[in-house]
Amino acid sequence: MSTTSRIKELDMEECCGKETHDITSIYGENVFNQNTMRKYLSEKTFKSLNDTIARGGKLDPSIADEAADGMMKWAVSKGATHYSHWFQPLTGLTAEKHDSFIVPDGKGGALLEFSGEKLIQGEPDASSFPSGGLRPTFEARGYTGWDPTSPAFLKTSPQGTTLCIPTYFVGWKGEALDKKTPLLRSMKALAIQAERLAKILELPVTQKAYSTLGGEQEYFLIDRNYYLQRIDLVQTGRTLFGRAPAKHQQMADHYFGAIKNRVIAFMEDLEREMWKLGAPLTTRHNEVAPAQYEVAPIFENQNIGVDHNQMMMEVMQNVAEQHGLACLLHEKPFDGINGSGKHNNWSITGPDGKNWLSPGKNPHENERFLICLCAVIKAVDTYAALLRVTVASAANDHRLGSHEAPPAIISIYLGEQLNDIIEQIEKGALKGATKEGTLEVGIDSLPPLPRHASDRNRTSPFAFTGSKFEFRAVGSSQSLSGPNVVLNMIVADALKDICDELENVSKKDLNKTVQKLLQSIIKKHKRVIFNGDNYTEAWVKEAKKRGLPNNVSTPEALEAIKDPAVAPLFERHKVLNKTEVISRYDTYKEQYNTIINYEAALSVDMAKTMFIPAAVAYAEGLSASVKSIEGVNKGSLKGIRAILKEVSKYTEAAIASADKLEKAVAGGKSTAIIAVMKELRGHVDALEALLPKDAWPVPSYTEMLFMS
Ligand code: ADP
Ligand code: MG
Repeated sequence: MSTTSRIKELDMEECCGKETHDITSIYGENVFNQNTMRKYLSEKTFKSLNDTIARGGKLDPSIADEAADGMMKWAVSKGATHYSHWFQPLTGLTAEKHDSFIVPDGKGGALLEFSGEKLIQGEPDASSFPSGGLRPTFEARGYTGWDPTSPAFLKTSPQGTTLCIPTYFVGWKGEALDKKTPLLRSMKALAIQAERLAKILELPVTQKAYSTLGGEQEYFLIDRNYYLQRIDLVQTGRTLFGRAPAKHQQMADHYFGAIKNRVIAFMEDLEREMWKLGAPLTTRHNEVAPAQYEVAPIFENQNIGVDHNQMMMEVMQNVAEQHGLACLLHEKPFDGINGSGKHNNWSITGPDGKNWLSPGKNPHENERFLICLCAVIKAVDTYAALLRVTVASAANDHRLGSHEAPPAIISIYLGEQLNDIIEQIEKGALKGATKEGTLEVGIDSLPPLPRHASDRNRTSPFAFTGSKFEFRAVGSSQSLSGPNVVLNMIVADALKDICDELENVSKKDLNKTVQKLLQSIIKKHKRVIFNGDNYTEAWVKEAKKRGLPNNVSTPEALEAIKDPAVAPLFERHKVLNKTEVISRYDTYKEQYNTIINYEAALSVDMAKTMFIPAAVAYAEGLSASVKSIEGVNKGSLKGIRAILKEVSKYTEAAIASADKLEKAVAGGKSTAIIAVMKELRGHVDALEALLPKDAWPVPSYTEMLFMS
């Protein structure tokens, strides 16, 4: 027996839980992956399917029956009774409708069957999902279609197992009704331009180009008993009322601190479940706010990365429940302390199999890197407002620009060394510039860039971090699809312009042309580069001077979708047509208004039925106390009377604000509603500071954040 397997065996003996700690033995066990496919499919079908997956070849419909049968046999062997086309509607959540494998055999018994037809296409109806007018009811058919590039997986529970097939979701004319369709289209758009550039640069072509994604996910964990007593958390995902505790995150003593046993138990179970689903979770740590944590995977093909993040958000809720915890994914569950984001690490793996945002060691590699870098700079500057749209939501509005997350101004952080290189390129062709001290693209090597030197600036919304860009404005509960659709597409658009310029240039002039082109891109778009502190007022002013958009709220941000340049951009790269683009505007606007409205309605409800009655009862008790104490002791009782006065004052104010809020809701203007909600909250939170702990109808921030 080898030493390693001996160690493995000892570990297993020591393992006290029912689950194994040997990751490799469980990794991917709930996924119809290459190993499983090999076992359940013929060589021919396996090869054909693999070709579709790896090289984006067209799916051969003749293999569908065998693929379906193999998939079913595997799933049934793992206890599955049903299958489901698993899709991602515009709600940002996932959707599933289950059908069993059962077919009556005509003799009173049943057979199990799963056909290629059923694998490839489903018609779940699903007409209640938002479609922004894409699905008028008279033609309301909606279809799900198999996405073979994301592996089928099993959803398991003690109650049963379902085979889930990742699918896209479209209307009867092929209109994209979901988040996967545009993602796949945008990945294709980027791959097309990457392949053009590879040809121009004469790079070896060994594979299909694809975008990569590593999504760092922040979340809160609180005791489930507290959670269930907070109707605001249960219904809206955030606390609509609540005073921040005196001590919360000021000492940064939670950040990267020792992880509590109860939390580690949750993390271990989460990781195990996700490893079984083939998701490479690797990093875990405590975050800045009390009861806040982070989990991050090793980066993957973007389509799979998005699917894994969607699955994980669901698994997190389930695992938390098993541990008597609630996992909060909302961007701002608690006012006054940090909210949660989802850092979107993004790059391109080119047709040469290399990461194109990796600086590289020789001049040739650097040319590729610098072209990509400049394409990103051009893309983000040109379409900053559109990128901002992709992180706009009622929930994320509480977070962006609140000195805990990047502002709504989209700028790029490059770090000192890379910035220096960009400046050199900008100077490169200036008259009189000597070769010394300036760098020529494709001729000189870049100085080695230390991989982590550039990650010091945590305030930037869009930072270069060594070998990828990190888009940090994304909200924790959001689907990662939206930001990546736009990122892929705008970079594809910038690369398209670059390729258009370079495609017909002779080999001997290529270098010079690249140098000039990048120089002009930097000159034109360097205003988007900002290496300072994004949290300061000074930057807001400076950004305004530079003409960078600053769309603070979601309604402002969404208007950018209607910019005349936007629909043609989506159409140019076949990501969405104009109608599909406008449907997103309508859907997100309605979602925003709906959220503001129900949060306001619940605020009124909680104030009137919980907080105001509690305050009145306390005031009543206080005044009774005043009377009875004064009966015995004829002192002035100044202190108690003052408390009574305060309680009465805030109670009256809360009643008035609640009435005002009801009227504001009826008025339907979101800015007015938000302002009055804030006012009401102020009065209620003031009451929380006055009432005895036992008299307060919901658990406090201190209990939820520190006593789990
Ligand atoms: P940092 O601390 O600089 O953010 P990490 O190594 O912690 O870097 O990476 C953060 C996330 O970025 C991880 O999920 C990681 O897998 C991912 N990542 C690394 N390289 C790439 C890449 N080429 N494309 C996309 N994501 C990447
Ligand atoms: Mg990071």
